[in-house]
Amino acid sequence: MNVNDPRWASIDAFVEENRDNILRDITRLVAVPSVEGAPEPGAPFGPGPKAALAKALEIAEELGLSTCNADSYIGWAETGTIADDQKFLATITHTDVVPEGNGWDADPYTVRVRDGWLLGRGVADDKGPSILCLYALKYLKDSGAALKYPVRALLGANEETNMHDVDYYAEHYPMPAFCFTPDAEFPVCNGEKGGFNGEIVSPKLDGIQLSFVQFFVVSVLSTIFAFVFEAPSPDQFRAAAVSIAYCGIMSSGVAYTLQIVGQKALDPTIASLAMCLESVFSALAGWLILGETLSTTELCGCGLMFAAIVASQLPDKKKV
Ligand SMILES: [Zn+2]
Repeated sequence: MNVNDPRWASIDAFVEENRDNILRDITRLVAVPSVEGAPEPGAPFGPGPKAALAKALEIAEELGLSTCNADSYIGWAETGTIADDQKFLATITHTDVVPEGNGWDADPYTVRVRDGWLLGRGVADDKGPSILCLYALKYLKDSGAALKYPVRALLGANEETNMHDVDYYAEHYPMPAFCFTPDAEFPVCNGEKGGFNGEIVSPKLDGIQLSFVQFFVVSVLSTIFAFVFEAPSPDQFRAAAVSIAYCGIMSSGVAYTLQIVGQKALDPTIASLAMCLESVFSALAGWLILGETLSTTELCGCGLMFAAIVASQLPDKKKV
């Protein structure tokens, strides 16, 4: 629908006409506390979610919609009965809530209006959107809009904990061709496809093999570029033979390989910290063995870099 479509005016009129009823029905639904409880016969998520789902379906019926309660796991409303083999669209919201918690200055289950905001547990997540979906269906039904696909407004009862409402639906009923959810921060949140928790691990690697490949690649590339950019002579090689041998065999070959092998068993944070300390060790060794000293400015620079290295390697505590 583009912005000039005349149907917008009829939607605006519908909202205006139903504003008070919408607020009243949000209040009615919020008034049913629906935190998950111990399962009971006929109430798989406890009495609260069962009662809230029943209340939402009662409201849907008052709006003239067809409803279905799937054993108090989940329920839905639709503009007319949808056949099992019919393609349909769906919205999904939920009527269960998270525990009210502390800090309320009034009853969390009694909706209040303050500064233009509705206050109450579940107003935004997700009882308000649940009622709005039902009214959207009422609009479609009352306006007699010709729909290419019928719409089912699913009302879950276990979203806040385990999503077993959706599991139950998926097991027993046909899936919609397309579904969106006006949950919580809609329109920022407009779909829920489940979560993924996992650990991505690279295949196990032989440390010695890895360091050999690294040395090989680096030495081939370095040799090529040495001849491209410089003109090394045999005399130079002879003069620097001891240094080259020490650097190649001890520093790179032995020390680096030991580092790779040792690193494998270390916690990644500690490993990267230890590696970042390379320059600190070299400064200390330069002072101890070669008698090199640093000026005050250089020492300040070292201190700054050290602080930055430590800060960057601290584990992120904000991650949830
Ligand atoms: Zn939610």
